[in-house]
Amino acid sequence: SASVSSSRVHTTCPYCGVGCGVTLSRQRNQDMPIGDEDHPANFGRMCVKGSALHETIGVNGRLLHPEVDGKQTDWNSALDRVAQRLQETIEKYGPDAVAFYVSGQLLTEDYYVANKLMKGYIGSANIDTNSRLCMSTAVAAHKRVFGADAVPTSYEDLESADLIILYGSNMAWTHPVVYQRIAAAKAARPELKIVVIDPRRTSTAELADLHLPIKPGTDIELIDGLLAYLINEGHEDSAYLKKHAEDYESVCQQIIERSSNLSDIAETCDISLENLKRFYQWFANTEKTVSVFSQGINQSSRGVDQASLILYSHLLTGRIGQEGSGPFSITGQPNAMGGREVGGLANQLAAHMNIESEAHKEIVQTFWGSPTICQSPGAKAIDMFRQIEEGTIKFVWIMATNPVVSLPEAERVKSALSRCPTVVVSDCMAETDTVRLAHIKLPAAGWGEKDGTVTNSERRISRQRSFLDLPAEVKPDWWIICQVAERLGFASDFNFAKPADIFREHARLSAYKNKGDRAFNIGGMIGMSDMDYDQLKPVQWPVIDRDSDGNFVSTKRLFTDGLFYTPSGKAKFHDVVLDTSPRRQGAFPFMLNTGRIRDQWHTMTRTGLSRRLQKHYSEPFVEMHPDDMKALELQSGQLASVSSPQGSCTVRVSEHDGLRKGDVFMPIHWSDSFASAARTDTLVAAICDPISGQPAFKQTPVEIKSV
Ligand code: SF4
Repeated sequence: SASVSSSRVHTTCPYCGVGCGVTLSRQRNQDMPIGDEDHPANFGRMCVKGSALHETIGVNGRLLHPEVDGKQTDWNSALDRVAQRLQETIEKYGPDAVAFYVSGQLLTEDYYVANKLMKGYIGSANIDTNSRLCMSTAVAAHKRVFGADAVPTSYEDLESADLIILYGSNMAWTHPVVYQRIAAAKAARPELKIVVIDPRRTSTAELADLHLPIKPGTDIELIDGLLAYLINEGHEDSAYLKKHAEDYESVCQQIIERSSNLSDIAETCDISLENLKRFYQWFANTEKTVSVFSQGINQSSRGVDQASLILYSHLLTGRIGQEGSGPFSITGQPNAMGGREVGGLANQLAAHMNIESEAHKEIVQTFWGSPTICQSPGAKAIDMFRQIEEGTIKFVWIMATNPVVSLPEAERVKSALSRCPTVVVSDCMAETDTVRLAHIKLPAAGWGEKDGTVTNSERRISRQRSFLDLPAEVKPDWWIICQVAERLGFASDFNFAKPADIFREHARLSAYKNKGDRAFNIGGMIGMSDMDYDQLKPVQWPVIDRDSDGNFVSTKRLFTDGLFYTPSGKAKFHDVVLDTSPRRQGAFPFMLNTGRIRDQWHTMTRTGLSRRLQKHYSEPFVEMHPDDMKALELQSGQLASVSSPQGSCTVRVSEHDGLRKGDVFMPIHWSDSFASAARTDTLVAAICDPISGQPAFKQTPVEIKSV
């Protein structure tokens, strides 16, 4: 059972968006975590990061006491200072002069109160999250096509599909347990076909029946060509479209008008015509198809359009809302969706409501009884740090994230923060590149100490349970935020004694004036007791009912009735724009792709503590094709400088013949804390998708030289 036994705790892994259930002993560092056999995300499976969790907890390297201006202080003084600086800045420059930059590492309850404080009480929408770098493209595509940020599918659809397409995902390393589930399904049913679309031949490609190593940035031409092929070859489900979609005629007409012949598409994508045809034919002829898309699609300057085309490929063929078929956005973080649910993005309100909608603003403000409500979208991540650089934002509170390493143009971010009048950082670690720049440091709880909920990539809400005492003066994020709200004069509306109280309010808001016209609804959980919350079993939203045993009822699949969340109830097609991505430039002849490696998480502030995990790759590197190395007379292991117009890094060269010639790859994890001049994101330009604001991390023209 997912409930808490006396000797072992059942919780959720804090790393990727698979959201695996984990069980471990209640005593610190006593045993290895093992996969929770009853958790529907993993059924007992684990990856190497999850199974090293016990090596990363404890007080080593922790921020244990509040600090103001470099001096340790008590909580009262630190919180008073945060509130005072917030108030002074707002009084002098207005609410948009302050900002919160938060994280997919926060639990839903933390996110809920941070969003409530900023949008309903400070009256600005300047709260954005590092999830902007991860899933905001998928959110924007879901919203404009489905009318809501709603992922239709479940992991078990992958196991019942006959064709799985993995667009831009090295799942074997980045979402290993989902990969293990697919690998097991393929072993049981070898006829299950897998297509991997990725410029690199990664570990994931080993499972593929077909790997399409397309030229970086040509996904959109490939998918646009797929749609043209489906229409031209008569694979449209006209009855489905007529009943359940709108504006598809004109969009399909444009797709046909701009379509090239298959040879031209193959040439553009730089793959063989035979393989292109095979992919299109498999898609056309396989009813049960799941299209998984991840960072290769999302982290692009035209991400929303290419993600939308993936959604259209399923609408066009009526393959959505049925077992074993549908589009599936797999995102990176532990609380892959929880932040989206409570308005963690600068362009959304809580409970998936829209800032642009007067009716939604009124619903949220009335429900909260708040003194104000933000009027328009706030600054998305990149713009937020631009405004800090320009001096229009003068106060920033960064929670559980390390933007000095993880944002594009990272050196610019560092210099912007070093000039910002007030930088507050809440973190569990003491020495991150971002914490070092803080005027006020707030020690926050880490995994094992935090208590609340997270939502994974398949809409499944699970409990992250605490099993360790809070060390020294460490406090949970929700408590810290509520204490600041109290000092700003909002005590009665932030008077939460525990995470369960926040969750119940979150559930009530999701159902408030929601007659099924908004996707996110967990109204069935409104009346949950503290014990229900403590013993909550993983459940997929919407959660409208309880069964006769009192269990909350999951919704496995969305759109089974063909009804979408747009005003008309029909899925909406939009025009897409081709060809805006950055291409190779003369002085920067290589195309840099960035991503994760198997054994590290984000900026390594926690996984970097495990010696076992360090063994996989112990230092930063740039992977190159052997022919490119030969041309530059570089040897494996040699140091090289990688430069772009934005900056430069010095790392070792590593040979990989699974790269296309002219492409190079660097992992994102290392920071100046581990090796100097190794912050990959100092190289990446802050070019974003115009709709989602998600940066294009996958295509940076660079130059490489030996040093
Ligand atoms: Fe599961 Fe992801 Fe954690 Fe690995 S990192 S155990 S796949 S949630």
